[in-house]
Order: sequence, then C-alpha cells, then structure tokens
Amino acid sequence: MLAKRLENLHPYVPGEQPKDRVYIKLNANENPYPPSRKVTEAVTEAVASHPEKIGLYPDPDANELRSAIAQMLNESGGVLSNSSASIPFKVTPDMIFCGNGSDEVLSFVFYTFFDSDRPIVLPEHTYSFYPVYCGYYDIPMDRVPLKSDWHLDTEKMLADANANDSCTIFANPNAPTGIALSRDEVAQMIRRAPKDKAFIVDEAYCDFAEESCIPLLAEFKNLVIVRTFSKSLSFAGQRLGFIIANPELIKAVFTVKNSFNHFPVDFLTQTAGIASCKDWAYYGENARKVKAERESMTAFLRERGWFVIDSSTNFIFAKKDGLEGEKVYQTVKKAGILIRHFSTPGIEQFVRISIGTKEQMDALKEAMKDL
Ligand SMILES: *Cc1c(COP(=O)(O)O)cnc(C)c1O
Repeated sequence: MLAKRLENLHPYVPGEQPKDRVYIKLNANENPYPPSRKVTEAVTEAVASHPEKIGLYPDPDANELRSAIAQMLNESGGVLSNSSASIPFKVTPDMIFCGNGSDEVLSFVFYTFFDSDRPIVLPEHTYSFYPVYCGYYDIPMDRVPLKSDWHLDTEKMLADANANDSCTIFANPNAPTGIALSRDEVAQMIRRAPKDKAFIVDEAYCDFAEESCIPLLAEFKNLVIVRTFSKSLSFAGQRLGFIIANPELIKAVFTVKNSFNHFPVDFLTQTAGIASCKDWAYYGENARKVKAERESMTAFLRERGWFVIDSSTNFIFAKKDGLEGEKVYQTVKKAGILIRHFSTPGIEQFVRISIGTKEQMDALKEAMKDL
C-alpha cells in the first residue's frame, strides 16, 4: 500500500520533550531567554486589532519580514553577539528567502540545488537532518570523516567536490562539535570548489560565533547561507528560518516554494519575526550571556578532567575518559536536567550540553561535579 520511496526515509529524532516532570532543558539548543516583550506585544496587538487576518492568507512572500531581516543584518553586521561584526555592502530584501523554520528552508535548498546524479559533499558528523533529506530526495552522499582534532577535513572535501563536480554543505559553526571555520577558511574553500555548483553554509549558530560568511556573498555567486531564528532569536516554537544569497538563486528557491506551499510563513510568525528583527540588540545581549556561560562551563569541566571542544555555538560537546555519554546523560537526568548524547558511532562518548541561564548552568555544575 505504501509508496516505494518510503524505504529511503530515516526520520530525524529530535531531543526529547518529556511531560512526566519539569526538567531543565539543555538538550535541544533552544534559547534559555524569553522572546523580547516587543515581540509578544506585537503579536497580541496584531490579533486584537486585526482578528480578520487569522482568516486571510498571509503575504506569500513575507516581503515586510524580508526587509526587516535585511535591516537587522545591515545594522548588526550579521553576528548578533559581536558588536564589531560588519558587512561591507548593503543586504537587500531580494537576497532573502523566508521559510517555516530553517529545516523547511533546507528542504527547499536540497530540492533547488542538489541533483541525484552525483553525491553531495558533507562532513560525516554535521547536522543530522542533511542525510534525512538526502533520503527524502534520493540524493547520494559523500560523507567525509572529520580530522582527528574534530575539525572539517576541508582538503578532502574539496578534492571530492572537484572530482565529482559536486555541491557542498556543512554547518558553520558545525554541529555537534561546535567548531567554526573562519570566514577566510571558508573563502579559501569556495575559491577552489566547483564554481557553478551551490556551496551551502548553514549558519544556525553564527550569532554565538565571531564571524559570518555573509560578506563573502559579494565575491561568490554560488554561496547560499542558511539561518534560523530558533536559536539566537528565541523562536524555536514559532518556526522561522531564512536564506541569504544572490537574488538569482533566491528566485530559484521561490520557484520551488511556489511549487510546494505558497504560504510557508504564517501571519503571526511574520508579525513576530518583524518585531524580533527590530529588537535585535536584546537578542545580541542574550547571546553574549550565553557565550559567557559557555566559557564558564567549559572551564569547569576541563578543571575536572573533561575533554571539551572549544565551542563557537550555544552548546558544548564534551567527553571524559571512562564515561559513556549515555551514563552522563542518565546521571544528569536524575538531577532533573536533560542533555543530549548520541548513539552515532564515533561520538558515543560525548554529550552535547546546550547552554542555559546562569541558574541552569549552576544546577548542571552541581549535578556533574562528582562525575
Ligand atoms: C537547529 C538547527 C537547524 C534547524 O533550525 P529550525 O529553524 O528550528 O528548523 C538547522 N541547522 C542546524 C545546523 C541546526 O542546528
């Protein structure tokens, strides 16, 4: 009864969302801070003064939101936690595409740019939704192992991309390692990669790092940057993601969107998204707090003999000799805190800890101090 293509599907398993007790949730890289009051006020006000908009289709292309995102990027310089970040040109709304979370945006990206006739190049350990979409769209994968220091093997990725004339995708900073390539390193890669093949950089965690690749859009017409509101903009429950790329590529993604779902971003999400962009400084402040807690937690674990990878994100990836990730997860869960461990071969020893507020991290330190 079922279509044959279902055999290729291996759905993504998200961090658990238990109902049995109230846990401190440090397992899904959500933002521990609430949205700006300006966001909740804008939504309340929109519903109160325009209830009819609930019954009308929203702007299919989210044009006001695209302008607000462009303005946020121009004003903030593209990295909310880094006040010295800057973009040497003006990002315009026609360089932006919005979707219902960056997972949906990524789905459009896979459909728009990746063919089934050759493998795409991606790291062996990266965002685990990419292999899921490869199954969904029947796209072969060339998964390049990380180097022994957990960094991307950029030389091998480039060699493979050139050998097969392939597209490339990775998260930068990468997940679940938390390691960022510098903008210069990414530029070196794109310069040597196939020119007429899309080069995708998923910047889901960029607001917790130091540099964005947005300035490279001036030089590289094949660069596609994917962003989400879920992490740095406290928006995981509302769902909003976007692409920044050259207008010709954005047009192609619109063609795909309009062939699948005209209205991916609903009226309330557009309203809340616009208000979020206007108050970007509030989110920048929160991202700086997260960074400070990240450094504190990293130092705490290292003092106790843990191996902790230097993180440019809102999570850390850590392990300790003689401790399985599963065991750490169970111990911490008994203390009422959820973190994430993976059964993926090669990273079973690690746990991934999302960075919360100071109070949450103090509770976690208490739970981990004797491990
Ligand atoms: C969280 C995450 C996403 C998905 O974000 P949503 O907008 O919530 O769908 C995409 N890419 C990476 C690397 C992520 O970590």
